[in-house]
Amino acid sequence: MDRRDFLRAATLAPVLGLVSVPPALASSAPDWPGLRRRLTGKLVLPADAGYGAARRLFNPAFDGIRPGGVAYCATPADVSACLSFVRANRLPVTARSGGHSYAGWSTGTGLVIDVSRMNSVSYAAGRATVGAGAKLVDVYDKLARHGVSIPAGSCPTVGVSGLALGGGIGVVSRKYGLTCDTLESVRIVTADGRLLTCDADHHPDLYWACRGGGGGNFGVAVSFTFRTHQTRDTTVFFLHWPWAKAEAAVKAWQSWAPTAPDELWSTLHLTRNNGLDVQIGGTYLGGKAALDRLLAPLVAGIGRPSSRYASTTSYGHAMMVMAGCSSLSVAQCHLPGQTAAGRLSRDTFAAKSHLAYQKLSAAGVRALVAGAAQAGEHTVQLDALGGAVARVRPDATAFPHRAALFGVQYYSKGTGRAWLRGIHGDMRAHLGDHAYVNYIDPDLTDWRSAYYGANAPRLAAVKAAYDPGRVFHLPQGV
Ligand SMILES: Cc1cc2nc3c(=O)[nH]c(=O)nc-3n(C[C@H](O)[C@H](O)[C@H](O)COP(=O)(O)OP(=O)(O)OC[C@H]3O[C@@H](n4cnc5c(N)ncnc54)[C@H](O)[C@@H]3O)c2cc1C
Repeated sequence: MDRRDFLRAATLAPVLGLVSVPPALASSAPDWPGLRRRLTGKLVLPADAGYGAARRLFNPAFDGIRPGGVAYCATPADVSACLSFVRANRLPVTARSGGHSYAGWSTGTGLVIDVSRMNSVSYAAGRATVGAGAKLVDVYDKLARHGVSIPAGSCPTVGVSGLALGGGIGVVSRKYGLTCDTLESVRIVTADGRLLTCDADHHPDLYWACRGGGGGNFGVAVSFTFRTHQTRDTTVFFLHWPWAKAEAAVKAWQSWAPTAPDELWSTLHLTRNNGLDVQIGGTYLGGKAALDRLLAPLVAGIGRPSSRYASTTSYGHAMMVMAGCSSLSVAQCHLPGQTAAGRLSRDTFAAKSHLAYQKLSAAGVRALVAGAAQAGEHTVQLDALGGAVARVRPDATAFPHRAALFGVQYYSKGTGRAWLRGIHGDMRAHLGDHAYVNYIDPDLTDWRSAYYGANAPRLAAVKAAYDPGRVFHLPQGV
């Protein structure tokens, strides 16, 4: 804690309820009505009408989990009051922003601290200040009005908190870096109720950990300040091939995508649904003619696509296209519980992932395509990295995978994990064990090294310094 934080904490103490709780009170039943009275925001308890909706995450697979309460915090002081409450009552606590945790680790049986009411997005002098509960579609939309943006993910309803704290891979990452690479400061309420502003000069270790160390570990973030980039017209493209070209597509794509110009980002999908499909899509920060020239060697390596689409549009609309919302308004491009007009659906899925540090061998390509072709309803998705992501040192932020060429996700419909475990196990021989904490995977036993590599010991030291009592606990907690 530096002097400025000490003074700030002293000023905030009466407001934030930092008064220590006598041990005797800890054994009595939690005073939920008392917590409700202390909050500016709203506390939803099991007997309340809104409880069914309040406890839902993005993935219905976790609908059976029943929190003791869901606090829609409106201010950092609300968050601090919640933390005081859980400490006093020794309750489990979980932070929640967009609710997209793959493992459902933004809900639990204790108190859920939901930050979605702190969702403002403002812009001044090249910096965006974003409330911890903002959804990506709103971040893109509000910043687009200023002709700027931040590099972030493609899913519109993902929360900025989970995304940024774990890294943040997106459709312009090769040009502008991960979301966490543009994070200049984060305001976070730590386990002891202090509101800290962390940047390169203040709590630098915590600031470092908040750039890739993963949500739910170090405190409850309440806002982020990002460096923005100017937007420009963008060409979105989608090419399809018949399944017979799947191996050729993976082989050509992995040699092309990670070393393309930074302006070009792409993703390759091998999809098994009713039929089998090979798709390469992406974004290019430039015009169609230049994109065609860049696509030419890829197409030459695979063969003529069965369909080809490319269109140049505004940056904001390109983000809507990549979000699957090209024909929806921003208000509609939400889940029904997020906006009145929200038209998107929740999705029951399970996933596992790898990060590829080297290209797949011919045998690796064959194994990937054979795995994708197996019966079921699933997609194997390869997302290009490299470019600006690779120009940051592996220990400069907590996200260590700077040398990865691309991400590999195995994504299946429903809750079954048999296909996922099979293909993931088969591909370990070809891809190793690196994984991305934002695709958090409850199956992993070697998760510390998989997510954090050589950064794991420093993360553990930050955890010990800022949450020595492990108030924030995850099954795969730092
Ligand atoms: C459909 C879909 C598409 C995705 N697309 C991308 C993508 O393009 N790029 C990418 O990089 N990732 C992507 N992801 C993964 C996504 O980044 C992670 O799931 C991320 O953790 C979700 O953040 P959230 O706030 O929505 O989730 P939540 O479930 O709310 O939170 C995730 C974790 O962060 C913690 N947390 C939440 N809020 C806070 C807070 N304020 N302070 C501290 N901890 C907090 C939670 O406790 C939990 O452990 C996608 C996920 C899904 C389901």
